[in-house]
Amino acid sequence: MKFGIMLGFACNAHCEHCTTSSGPGNKTHLTDFEKSKIASFFNENAKQIHKVVFSGGEPFLYIDDINQILTSFTSISSDFQVEVITNAIFASSAEKCAKEFSRLKMVNSVIISYDEFHSPFCSQQNILTLVKYCKENNINVCASVTKGSYKAIEYVKLFSDLNVESQVTDFKYTGRGALLTKKYFNDAIQPNSDILDSKCPLINTVNYFPGKGFSFCCGHLMFNMEYNSPIKRFAFDSYADMISSHLYQELKNHNFSEILAKIKCPTTYTSVCDICQHFYEETM
Ligand code: SF4
Ligand code: SF4
Repeated sequence: MKFGIMLGFACNAHCEHCTTSSGPGNKTHLTDFEKSKIASFFNENAKQIHKVVFSGGEPFLYIDDINQILTSFTSISSDFQVEVITNAIFASSAEKCAKEFSRLKMVNSVIISYDEFHSPFCSQQNILTLVKYCKENNINVCASVTKGSYKAIEYVKLFSDLNVESQVTDFKYTGRGALLTKKYFNDAIQPNSDILDSKCPLINTVNYFPGKGFSFCCGHLMFNMEYNSPIKRFAFDSYADMISSHLYQELKNHNFSEILAKIKCPTTYTSVCDICQHFYEETM
């Protein structure tokens, strides 16, 4: 099982599409009480948790918290891995990379988020520096590119030229992105699309969000509900509450064709998360 830990909403960038609405002024972060909940959950499920993924905000602003959390894990599985998702702004030189990574108690892999939304805040030189540092220090590195426009291909090529695999994700109208009036070019899901045979891509993960709780969803149901709906966001005090919830059971046992058949679906969708949000609003 993958366990995602969002450290806080502080970030040294302010991307217009940010699904978590993070930024320099956002001070919400994990409290000590929440860190102890995370430790309890991890230690009770250590045999099943093979990877912890730290996200933000920008995780390199939270190195002390990462180390405190990792220190609180009393036992780890033999193949346990730590991954950090970063915007690479810290990686202004090889020396800065060496300094920041030496402060981390443990890290096996890095995901670099970089695309047309992140590039106003971070130079390509930082990307080259961070990739080089990771490769020279046996840290796995891959990239996450959000598809806002045709420009996405330029960023995929940048990483491809560096022999770094990139995962392209659709623009999501979630968080600050949900407030944008500009339309990005996600394709509408067709009624006969294979994607409707799939289930929630995150159903087998668990995340903890500061000030919110446990949830497998890090998309619409976590970060959209306050903007678009009077319905409470999909977050729980405990993992046990999460997996016994109605929505978890529905998404675990049904694909999106089956979910669509249960609701009066409006017009078009550009992601399964759109369908999921309609289902959640109609059935909660
Ligand atoms: S998308 Fe990432 S880098 Fe950009 S503001 Fe949000 S957390 Fe920060
Ligand atoms: S919105 Fe629904 S389908 Fe999308 S990640 Fe969240 S729970 Fe899964």
